[in-house]
Amino acid sequence: FSTVSILDVPFIKTTNAAFVAQLKQDVTAHQNRFVVTANPEILMYAREHPDYQALLKAADYVTPDGIGVIQGAQILGTPLPERITGYDTLLALLTWADQTKRRVFLLGAKPAVLQAVVAKVQRDYPGIQLVGARDGYFDNEEAVVNTIVAAKPDMVFVATGFPKQEFFIAAHRQRFDALWMGVGGSFDVLAG
Ligand code: UDP
Repeated sequence: FSTVSILDVPFIKTTNAAFVAQLKQDVTAHQNRFVVTANPEILMYAREHPDYQALLKAADYVTPDGIGVIQGAQILGTPLPERITGYDTLLALLTWADQTKRRVFLLGAKPAVLQAVVAKVQRDYPGIQLVGARDGYFDNEEAVVNTIVAAKPDMVFVATGFPKQEFFIAAHRQRFDALWMGVGGSFDVLAG
């Protein structure tokens, strides 16, 4: 995708449909990918935290998650087609993973929320191979990463909130070729 730079963060210029199609291709080819869905809050944080800014530049895809980013792009004269949220992308990928029996690892949220999400995935997406699920409150990061690597997931959804989830992914994604994506509060929404 071509990108549009806002406050020095490169946003992909594409639609939800084209983006999800690209992710499906990437997963099928076992590419190592890092997705960040960035809202204005993330942009402001990046401005004050160079390490996070660098991390955004190193991500494969940064999407405009929030109307503020779309409006900003418009004002700068470099419009972006539409919002691409973590939640919508997560749902689209779960649907595809169900159809194609992909391996999914879920990391994040409180234990009870995660339990509810696991139950929902098992009920609504029976084709998914749920190869691991771990709540987002852990001390031993290395042990969690080892569990993910051993599970050989096609996709790892990390829902520990920003900026934690992005730092986690950036630090560990090289351990295993998968699609790594931060999905913020999406598990709470999924759990209902
Ligand atoms: N969370 C977590 N581990 C933590 C902190 C937060 O798993 O150490 C989870 C929290 O339970 C929630 C999710 O991260 O499910 C998103 O939190 P929040 O809404 O604060 O983040 P945002 O949506 O702004 O990224």
